[in-house]
Amino acid sequence: MSEPADAAHRRAIAPVICYPTETLPRLPDAQAARAREAWQKVDEVVVPPREAASFKVQAGQAFRISSVDGPQVGDLNLWNLTNFSERFYSGKTRALHGTHVTTGDRLWSSFPALRPMATILADSLDWYGMDGFGGSVHDVIGTRCDPYTHNLLAGGQYHHCCHSNLTRAFADATGASLAEAEHHVHDVLNVFMCTGFTRDTGQYFMKASPVRPGDHLDFLAEIDLLGALSACPGGDCSAEHSSDSAACYPLLVEVFETALTPDWLTPPLNGYDRSHGR
Ligand SMILES: [Zn+2]
Repeated sequence: MSEPADAAHRRAIAPVICYPTETLPRLPDAQAARAREAWQKVDEVVVPPREAASFKVQAGQAFRISSVDGPQVGDLNLWNLTNFSERFYSGKTRALHGTHVTTGDRLWSSFPALRPMATILADSLDWYGMDGFGGSVHDVIGTRCDPYTHNLLAGGQYHHCCHSNLTRAFADATGASLAEAEHHVHDVLNVFMCTGFTRDTGQYFMKASPVRPGDHLDFLAEIDLLGALSACPGGDCSAEHSSDSAACYPLLVEVFETALTPDWLTPPLNGYDRSHGR
């Protein structure tokens, strides 16, 4: 189509932030500080390469995801431990906090709860910022590698995509069948993954993660959580995923009591009355 006469004018209109965050509830600084104090480890799980593992965190406890042996990205799912229908809402978290999350950002849950499930307490990769390609770390824009897209684009049957790893981990944690478990797997937080959208075509891209052993992402659990983390078959995602060709390493998840644990108050469900105008 030919451009209208005022095309340049229309393109020149400045954007408006969809969700100004001035009224978005943040974890108060005093609580965030106490959440970083008096850590006592109560559990840990090692996520093997190209596999997933589950873990439980009580509200008011913290959990840390660490790179251990080599650069590795992880795909994280979170559920309310007592109501699996309340789960991490990647899309709304993206709308509220942007394409990538870091210290102070919250992981929001699905409707109708729409409340913070966890808040990021520390991010050892926060120095990375946004690179010249528009890439950054810990995205909520990718969905998860999955065998359906792999089959669509390349054919074949690959069983260690994050989608399948998370499905098996949820089934093992809950006793659900694989068919049931698959419905609970949802869009992820891509821990340590470095991604963005190309500026010219808007395509989703990945590049070698800057993560190194010792890097970690720390969270405060705001409600009782079941988590599952997949050590993506893409390794550091420098080349490809959905295959066994990339170098892959384990990830470590540790759970800690904090100074905040004894008197933590779970955030309330969202205040909308759900009458939908009738
Ligand atoms: Zn993956």
